[in-house]
Amino acid sequence: MTLRINSRGSQVVKLQKELKAAGLAVGKADGIFGANTLKALKTFQARHHLAVDGVAGPNTWRALLNDGKKPAGAAAPKKTTPVASAPRGSLVSGYVNGVAKKIRVASIGNGKALRSDAAAKFNQMKAAARRAGVTLTPVSGFRTMAQQRSLYAAYRAGRGNLAARPGYSNHQGGRSVDVSTNGSYSSAAYKWLARHGRAYGFVNDVRGEPWHWTFRG
Ligand SMILES: [Zn+2]
Repeated sequence: MTLRINSRGSQVVKLQKELKAAGLAVGKADGIFGANTLKALKTFQARHHLAVDGVAGPNTWRALLNDGKKPAGAAAPKKTTPVASAPRGSLVSGYVNGVAKKIRVASIGNGKALRSDAAAKFNQMKAAARRAGVTLTPVSGFRTMAQQRSLYAAYRAGRGNLAARPGYSNHQGGRSVDVSTNGSYSSAAYKWLARHGRAYGFVNDVRGEPWHWTFRG
C-alpha cells in the first residue's frame, strides 16, 4: 500500500514500526504519517539508494521488509554525504559500470566534488584556465544514486538533458564534471578546455554536450 504524508491507519503503524526497526526515530507509532515519519522515511530511502520522495511505494516497502530480515547487528549502512572540503577527501558510495563502489572524492569548488585524483587535476586545470582569464565553474560533479535517478527520470520524461542509466553514469564514479558553458561550443570555457583539457586528462566524451568532461588520466 502506498503511503504518504497525512496517510493514516494500521498500514502507517506498520511503516512506523519498520522504520523504527531500521533504527530511525519516528516517535510513537501512532498511525499518523506526519513530519517525523516523513523525515525517517526519507533517511531510509537515501540509505537504500531509493528515490528520496518521502512516499512509501512498492520499492520502498520491499527495502523496508528486507531490511528487517537482516541479522541482528547488521546495521543499515551509514548515509555518506560528500564532505568534499575535507583535505584528504571523503569516502562516498559511488557506482562504476553498475557496481556499487566506495570512492574517495574531493572538492572542486562550487559545492561539487570529483574522485580525488580527478579533483586534483581539475583544480590544477582550473587554476591554469584562470591564469588565462577563463573561469571553469563546475555545475555537476560526483552524483549519488538518488541524484542520478532523479536526473534520469527527468530525462525520460523529456524534462532534462541526456542522463545515463542510474549506476552507469561516469558522474557516479566521480570521473565526469559538467562545466558551465552556457551549452555552447563557442563559450570561452569550452574553447579553453578543447585546447588544454587533455593535458590534464579531461576529454569531452558526449556529443552535443560541450559541458561534459570526463577524466581519463
Ligand atoms: Zn555530465
